[in-house]
This record gives sequence, structure tokens and C-alpha cells, in this order.
Amino acid sequence: MKSKRTKFWSGNNRFRLMVLAVVLPAASLIYVNFHHLKSIKRNKHLEGAIHRDFQQMLAISEKKINQKAYTMTEEARDLFPSPDTDTESEKRRKLDVILSKSPWLAHVFLFDIERDFLFRSQPQQMRDGDFREEHEHLAKMFAGWLGFDGKMFVEQIHKKNQPVMCQSFQVKRAGGDAYMTSAFFVLPQLPKDRVVLGGVSFEPNYLQQTFFPEVLEELIARKLTEEGGNQLAMVVYPTDYAGEHGDKRLAASAGWREGKPEVSRNLDDAFRGLALGIKFQGTSVEALGRAWVQRSFLILGVLSVLLVGGLVLTYRSVSKEVALARLKSDFVSNVSHELRTPLALIRLYAETLELGRIKTQEKVEEYYRIISKESERLTALINNLLDFSRIEAGRKEYDFRETDIAELVRNTLDAYRYQIEQQGFAFEQSIDSSLPAVRVDREAIARALVNLLDNALKYSADDKFLGVKVYGANGVLKLEVVDRGIGITRREQAKIFEKFYRTGDPLVHNTRGSGLGLSLVRHVTHAHGGKVEVESTPGKGSKFTLSLPLAAATQQPTNYKASGATAS
Ligand code: ADP
Repeated sequence: MKSKRTKFWSGNNRFRLMVLAVVLPAASLIYVNFHHLKSIKRNKHLEGAIHRDFQQMLAISEKKINQKAYTMTEEARDLFPSPDTDTESEKRRKLDVILSKSPWLAHVFLFDIERDFLFRSQPQQMRDGDFREEHEHLAKMFAGWLGFDGKMFVEQIHKKNQPVMCQSFQVKRAGGDAYMTSAFFVLPQLPKDRVVLGGVSFEPNYLQQTFFPEVLEELIARKLTEEGGNQLAMVVYPTDYAGEHGDKRLAASAGWREGKPEVSRNLDDAFRGLALGIKFQGTSVEALGRAWVQRSFLILGVLSVLLVGGLVLTYRSVSKEVALARLKSDFVSNVSHELRTPLALIRLYAETLELGRIKTQEKVEEYYRIISKESERLTALINNLLDFSRIEAGRKEYDFRETDIAELVRNTLDAYRYQIEQQGFAFEQSIDSSLPAVRVDREAIARALVNLLDNALKYSADDKFLGVKVYGANGVLKLEVVDRGIGITRREQAKIFEKFYRTGDPLVHNTRGSGLGLSLVRHVTHAHGGKVEVESTPGKGSKFTLSLPLAAATQQPTNYKASGATAS
């Protein structure tokens, strides 16, 4: 009892150790992560990274937009008249040609400080009053301004590497105020000290309806092919409208719909006065950050479930190991006890006989019987042990032969009858002698039957009854062993066929046994292609039924190799 308790505690200690070593850190990890995720609500790192990415994209976009405007300007510049060789009218004609070739320009102009200022506008637009006014106004303003600042302007352009400088103005178009930018440049063929400036003004309607929408789509398409992922949307709006008037946009990509840009950048150079904005289509960076946190929660949840599942599995496997270790150690003490008792009896009776002091022949015979019975018991136990070790090692072989099963059962019972009667059991047998011969391993089947009979005798208390029945039903040979003994609870019925297992009944405790018998019975029946079942009610008795297929049993292979006592 004492040793059991120690074992019990050592098993428990192992669990405790497991709880301390694995469950606690795992639980703390889960808790800390949950807490952490709960506290961040949305992922600021992710948002920061996206914002940086957006800023970079806007910087690149601005460069591309400027480049496009400069290229268009340079194309127009290449067609400009020469201030020195062309006559006045040729200059005018050439400027008009530029206008007709470039419908996206509203005005072109040529300023020569030594000569004059030519300012030409799209002829068909001149029919519009506002446009005429714009023409007059700009012509006058540019003439005055360049006359005053022209020299400095030229010097500035020469100093910078960029040979184009832009100025933006607000002008009037049919829809109201409109954004116009004008590009100023020097003519490449002239010496640096000539104060001559050419210029073009981009038509506001063209910028709004064609230039920006196209360039935005191009930029987005480029970014998409680079990365994939969430679709982007971009917008261009006048800087004075940012903030609460954010929707006064000049142009936007198709997916913009509405809302404020996630990140924006004021344009310099070609389109001063405008800003570029970017966001995701249909979602915000904040929502993405939140989604990330939610996904992390989900992953953490799944991982936690897996972790808990793993722990439960480990716990169960450790419990099984502990239980098996306990069963094994019980087994060793049971077997030692089982070996010692018959040996002690044999020795006692043999020594008594040797002394020759027993006078009556009856007593002598009785002693011989006891010696023989105890050695039989020893043989049975050793046979079980040998079978078990062969099965465990996978070396158990069966010798299948044509057998009259009724006769085999009858012979086994006859050899056992004395024991049955001597222990005061009422015995009933019903054996169908008309059964066909089957191929079985006689010794193995006989030993299985003896194990069942032995159990019936061992585990019966007051109502001593043993019944054996052999019959055929639906191509199956049935061998039943019935008792009215202590019975087995439903929970334990599933376990009694496992090696070493013995039930917790006090009678079982006080009865000799190794816990191997039923596991051998099961192995033998499986090897014959059959099965063993138990029906039992605690306190009322048990019925063990071996079922062997009549047809299949006749075709069993002769070299069945076992792979373990609990193999199926
Ligand atoms: P044992 O050597 O302990 O008899 P077995 O493998 O033959 O080993 O049986 C396993 C356990 O099943 C027994 O210890 C006993 O608790 C239970 N058992 C087996 N047969 C019977 C029966 N006829 N009635 C009640 N309990 C039984």
C-alpha cells in the first residue's frame, strides 16, 4: 500500500512539473500576447510603413508629372521661331503653328527684350469673351513683368539645370475658376546673355480632363504591377482647398470616389499650387491596421487552441505512461506472488511425502493431487508468460490444423472438470457436435478457453455457476463462457483486454492473477480472424463470447505472426 502511494505521488509530481514547466509559460505567453494585442488596438507600425510608402510614391509621382509637363514643353520649344533670323510675321506664323499642333496649349509667347513681345492664343477660343479677356490680361501682365524681371529670369534659368520654369495662375473657364500653369524657357540656340524667353500656357481644361486623369491612372497602374495587393487611388487638388474643402479636387483616378487622402504632397515646380493625394480604394490605412490586429487575435486564438490541445494530448499520454508503469510494477509483484505460492505448496507437500510420515493412502493421493494441480497452475502461468513475451516480441506463431472444435472444447473441459467441481461450481455445458471441422491452433484455442474458465472460477463469489456453450450461427462459430460472479463495470469492460489490466474489485485484488489472460485471449481470437466480446453486469455475472468465422477459419494462413498482445 505504501509503495502504491509513493508511485501515485510520483505520477502526480510529474503532472505538477508539467504544469509548472509547460502550462504556466504557455498560459503566460497567451495572456501577455492577448493583453498586448488588446492594448494596441491597431497596428501603428504597419500604418507608419504604409505612410512612408505612400510618401515615397507621391515623391516619385511628382517627378513623373513634372517630367511629362517638361517633355511637352520641350516639344513645343523645338518648334519655336528664331528671334534673330525669322521675320516678325514668320515668328507669328510659327507660334500659330505650334498652337494648332498642340491643342493642349492655351497660349504661346516669345519675349525678346531687344525687340518685342509676341503673345498668341488658340484662335478658336478667342471667340469666348472670358478667354479674350484672359489673353489681353496675360499679354499685358507678361509683357510688363518680363520687361522688368526678364533679365533676372533668364539668369535664373541658366543657373538652374532645369531649362524650364513654371508659374501658375488662376483663370476663368466656363465652369468657374480654373488652374493654369505657364512654362518659361530660354531658347537653346541663343547665347546666354540674350534676354529672350519663350513660353507656353497649358490649357486648364486639358490639365483637368486629360493630363491629370491620365497621369494618375498611369502611376497607379505602374505601382500595381510592381506590387499587387490593395488598389490605390490618387487625387490632385488645389492646395488652398485642402482640409475641409478636400473634395474640391481638380482630377482623380477612377477608384477615388470620395474621402480625404491618406497622405498628400504639395507640388512644386511645374504645378505649384496643386497637391497630390493618395489612399487605398475602399479601405483606409487605419482599417488595415485594425484588420491586422484582428488577424493577429485570430492567429493567437488558433495557436492557443492548438497549444491547449497539444497539452491535453501530452497530459493524456503521460497519464497513460504512468498508468502503464503502475500496471507493469503491479504485474511484476502479481507474477512473483503467483510463482511463489504454487512453488511453496509443491515444496511443502513433496517434503512431507518424502518424510514418509503420511500413513493413509488417501492422504498420500490427496498430496500428490495437490502437487500435480499446483504444477499445472505453474505450467499455465508460465505458458501465458511465454506467449505474452512472444507476442510482445512479434514472434508468436500459430499452427493451424483441421480441428473438431467440439471435441477440443470437450477435452479441455474434461481436464478442467475436477477443478470446477472441487470448487463447488454448478456446471452446465451445451456443445453442438455437428459443427464442421475448422482450422485452428488447438493449443492456443484451448489455452484461451482455460483462461476464460479460470477467470470465471476466480471471479465468482457466492453464486458459483459456470456455463460453456459451443454453437454455430450465420457462418460464425461461437464459444461462450458464462458465470454469475462479480461482473465488470461498463467502464472497465473496455479495459480488461489490455495487457496487465486488472479491475479495482476487492475480490480481484485478493485473487492471484497477472492481468495477461484476456489480452492473450484477444490476441488468439484476432489471429484466427475472430473477435472476443464481453457482456457483464456488476454483481450479476459475465458472459465472454469468442466468435471465430467458420469459413474463414478453415483458410487461415499457417504462419500468422503476432505483433503485440493488444494487436487487432
Ligand atoms: P487476471 O490474471 O487478472 O485474471 P485477465 O487478463 O484474465 O487477468 O483478466 C483481467 C481482469 O478482468 C481481471 O483482473 C478481472 O478484474 C477482470 N475479469 C476477467 N474475467 C472476469 C470475470 N469472469 N468476471 C469478473 N471480472 C473478470
